Amino acid sequence: MIEQLVRKNIASLKPYSCARDEFKGEARVFVDANENPMNGPYNRYPDPLQWSIKEKIARLKSVRPQQIMLGNGSDEPIDLVIRIFCEPKEDNIVATTPTYGMYAVCANINNVEYREVKLNDDFSLDAEKLLAATDKNTKLIFLCSPNNPSGNLLNRSEILKVITGFSGIVIVDEAYIDFAGEASWLTDLDKYPNLVVLQTFSKAWGLAAIRCGLAFASEEIIGYFNKVKYPYNINKLTQDFIFGKLDSESEKNQWVNMLLAERARLAAKLSALPIVEHVYPSDANFLLVRIKDAPMAYSRLAAAGVVVRSRHNISLCENCLRITVGTAEENKIVIDEMKKID
Ligand SMILES: *Cc1c(COP(=O)(O)O)cnc(C)c1O
Repeated sequence: MIEQLVRKNIASLKPYSCARDEFKGEARVFVDANENPMNGPYNRYPDPLQWSIKEKIARLKSVRPQQIMLGNGSDEPIDLVIRIFCEPKEDNIVATTPTYGMYAVCANINNVEYREVKLNDDFSLDAEKLLAATDKNTKLIFLCSPNNPSGNLLNRSEILKVITGFSGIVIVDEAYIDFAGEASWLTDLDKYPNLVVLQTFSKAWGLAAIRCGLAFASEEIIGYFNKVKYPYNINKLTQDFIFGKLDSESEKNQWVNMLLAERARLAAKLSALPIVEHVYPSDANFLLVRIKDAPMAYSRLAAAGVVVRSRHNISLCENCLRITVGTAEENKIVIDEMKKID
């Protein structure tokens, strides 16, 4: 069933076979990859499939290593899933609005039609409305939960209706799942062969700079990702760094707890400000805040050295700023500067 959804040229693609694919294991002498024998260990090409990292992640997330793809940020699997399934100028993608901007950008780069379906006014998902926008050429549906920029989890039973009511691939982007009080869709990965779950090291793990994102799916779908990705897409510096960091999940959890406490404090303080009209409930590490005059507040804050994200021009987000939860000191500066605006 999955194979029928894959673009024909990808299904029949013979992938590049690199030296590290053709010989695995230990040897006395490696003279197969035109590497320089000096400057170890950085002279050698890294493991193209990053097995040692995937084994650790598999244990942490209770999935199989073969169900994992590592990318140069989540942006890489977002682009790859489009290239694997969507025939340019023929197939289409359906997603909610507002949502993460990269889905539309990657669709446009690949010349694939991108259809937006508005969330309800409270940013909740209407599965029926979303499915009504699909047709026989819809290959992908992108859902972001917790959603960026609104911050809310999408309702589980509505997501389930989308997964079971759609014959294409459903991507659930869980970049902010560590900040949410609900379980990841990873626990249901084996039940739904058309489900792709995205996560990232960029947010809760505090590793945006090293560029590493994760896609989880059936072994069949991950096989297509592996076929299409650059052979050595994760460099050795990043691989080694992540390998070490995966042993300190407790540190990540401490950061998450600190940020959740700060999120509650920041939301309460913001709600008390006269210029603030509404602080939307958040399941992520940011708050969407509706204020009297977002463009004015944005410039006043920027002039004071406080950079927030204006979402004013995005659907359902008129006069909204998106404010990331920072440290207690940073949040105090944000509040102090917002108090000065009127
Ligand atoms: C931040 C974010 C990501 C992470 O992107 P990376 O490329 O992994 O840094 C993915 N999806 C959403 C919705 C995000 O907000």
